[in-house]
Amino acid sequence: MRIAVLSGKGGTGKTTVSASLALSLGNYQYVDSDVEEPNGGIFLNPKITDILPVNVKVPAVDENKCTGCGICSKTCQFNAIAVIKGMVLLFSEICHHCGACIIACPEVALYEIEKTIGVIEKNEDATFMQGKLNIGEPISIPIIQKLKDEMNPHIPIIIDCPPGASCNVVESIEGCDYCILVTEPTPFGLHDLKIAVKLVEKMGIPFGVVINKSSKDSKIIHKFCDKNKIDILLEIPFSRDIAEAYSKGRLPVHENAEWKEKFRAMYEKIKRGVNK
Ligand code: SF4
Ligand code: SF4
Repeated sequence: MRIAVLSGKGGTGKTTVSASLALSLGNYQYVDSDVEEPNGGIFLNPKITDILPVNVKVPAVDENKCTGCGICSKTCQFNAIAVIKGMVLLFSEICHHCGACIIACPEVALYEIEKTIGVIEKNEDATFMQGKLNIGEPISIPIIQKLKDEMNPHIPIIIDCPPGASCNVVESIEGCDYCILVTEPTPFGLHDLKIAVKLVEKMGIPFGVVINKSSKDSKIIHKFCDKNKIDILLEIPFSRDIAEAYSKGRLPVHENAEWKEKFRAMYEKIKRGVNK
């Protein structure tokens, strides 16, 4: 089973929930697809043994063949090529690797070269994987795709998604059996939860909600979930002890076996719902 953990915004507790769930299951593959800032490793302490580069193909120009006609520039939908005074300028950072310019060039002056945009890192048995996007690279989807290629379908997979509801999140949750939406009981939390709900509903993926930093204010989330018949899977209380432990790289499941039980029960509930 593949479970994605996401939230409408960063800092909500996505990694707390995904790492706690993984640690409670024992047998799991944890995949951190928050490639701009992967931090699940802080809690899971994996020993990284494999680092695989993620390469994409970008165009290069053979100036001896190029006539400066400008067709490549007009073809590119992403403005990644400009032709100025007959000279081709390539902006590989914003290239989407579609290859259209190469097909369109009448002089066969464009060809593909490999460019490394980041890496994926794994521990020895690949129960932990994380993607890392190189600084300055704006397009992370190829790294998420590579992580998905490397997933092990024979054990439960927990994906710690990027924050928000961008195309990186869409790529991360596509193909998942279930989504856990993590929120916090504030008006901003509710606003972002609504965006996340719209996304998973549109993609037709079953989902439930975990309230992190739960307090008496959680009624705004309960009200929304009751009205929309959304399952609240778990509530993690707003607590100084939890916050202090977190700042030292410790999760509630590290500190207290009861929390492991709660996360396991949540997993069983999700599994029953998915297998219905
Ligand atoms: S389409 Fe080909 S020949 Fe024309 S400007 Fe681009 S690279 Fe040069
Ligand atoms: S490969 Fe596609 S996105 Fe990249 S420069 Fe060519 S047309 Fe533009």
